[in-house]
Amino acid sequence: MSDEAVAAAWAREDLEALSERGLRRYLEPLDSPQGPVVRVGGETLVNFSSNDYLGLAASPTVRAAALAAVERYGVGTGASRLVVGDTAAHHRLETRLAAFERAEAVRLFNSGYAANTGIIPALVGPEDAVFSDALNHASLVDGCRLSRARVCVYPHADVEALERALAETPARRKLVVTDTVFSMDGDVAPLRDIVAACRAHGAALMVDEAHATGVLGARGAGLCDELGLENEVDLRMGTLSKALGVMGAYVATSREVADLLVSRARPFVFSTALPAHLCAASEAAVDAVEGDPDLRERLWRNIRRFADGLRGLGVRAEPRSAVFPIILGEPERALDAARRLREVGVLVKAIRPPTVPEGTSRLRFCLSASHTVGHVDLALEALRTVGVRRG
Ligand SMILES: *Cc1c(COP(=O)(O)O)cnc(C)c1O
Repeated sequence: MSDEAVAAAWAREDLEALSERGLRRYLEPLDSPQGPVVRVGGETLVNFSSNDYLGLAASPTVRAAALAAVERYGVGTGASRLVVGDTAAHHRLETRLAAFERAEAVRLFNSGYAANTGIIPALVGPEDAVFSDALNHASLVDGCRLSRARVCVYPHADVEALERALAETPARRKLVVTDTVFSMDGDVAPLRDIVAACRAHGAALMVDEAHATGVLGARGAGLCDELGLENEVDLRMGTLSKALGVMGAYVATSREVADLLVSRARPFVFSTALPAHLCAASEAAVDAVEGDPDLRERLWRNIRRFADGLRGLGVRAEPRSAVFPIILGEPERALDAARRLREVGVLVKAIRPPTVPEGTSRLRFCLSASHTVGHVDLALEALRTVGVRRG
């Protein structure tokens, strides 16, 4: 038997096991641009599963910036930034993001996943300890593992437990990592208390603002912006792929850390540079976030309306971010609810383990500035008729 056949047999066995547990996943290509209404599988559906929170993914100005940069730079970058893949567009975006984030320096990465798996191992190693919230995103979890530091997972948002762990752990360096908006629950980290705990124990703090960038804060720069904690957090990671509608990620930090990442963050060193047109598009998206506060106002109008509506249906909901989970329990329950909502025109994907803990499979609704009030009401009405309730 060829090697291929051996691997195929392994895969068949694993796929059957996943299917039996309701955990197999399938791709489904869209036939339209990303947006509040999408075409998929011949159907037209209102989209509640996109992280395109401000509707910038298909925005004319962002598209125009990308097209102009394709004309100027071509499509690919040919090498990592350290070799010959670096362009003026990368430096412009880093400078633009540093101003947006009120940071000394910004370093770009090709994705949030690359940022988190690159940054943590660049800062801590086997003699060190990293403290990670139990509901942190998988990319932070993997960054912790790759660092080979001692990993202490503290119960979700439990600052007392974090403090105890910080006090008890002997380590050369201590790094605390947390999502600011938790990606599958939409709740917000107790950041002021976490900052105080880090201060008290000489720990560095890294936050992941993937679902907060463009959504929270007076300037739209995230939870640190909302709480005025920009200067209290060592590393603030944000994505260009969610509210900013493009692709890539960045960390806002000190000049020293930004310089170290160039030499030491493996995804930065060993991966081809982000295409220049994505940098140009992201720059236009940051301009839109800063220059058009109306975008965020429309998003928050939808968030408040949806939260009120959910409460009217007896579902506990806080208007704290654009993410609303409806926890249903076993994978089949979430899949079945998603199927029934789809029949009435609502696209919302079932989220199952390992993305969320066992027994907490859910529907995860994401609101966007591009949804109309009518779209929001359609989702609420669909939930009412389908009778989805928190299990
Ligand atoms: C989506 C996400 C990431 C990964 O970002 P990508 O740019 O999509 O790779 C990292 N952290 C959190 C919390 C996320 O939700």
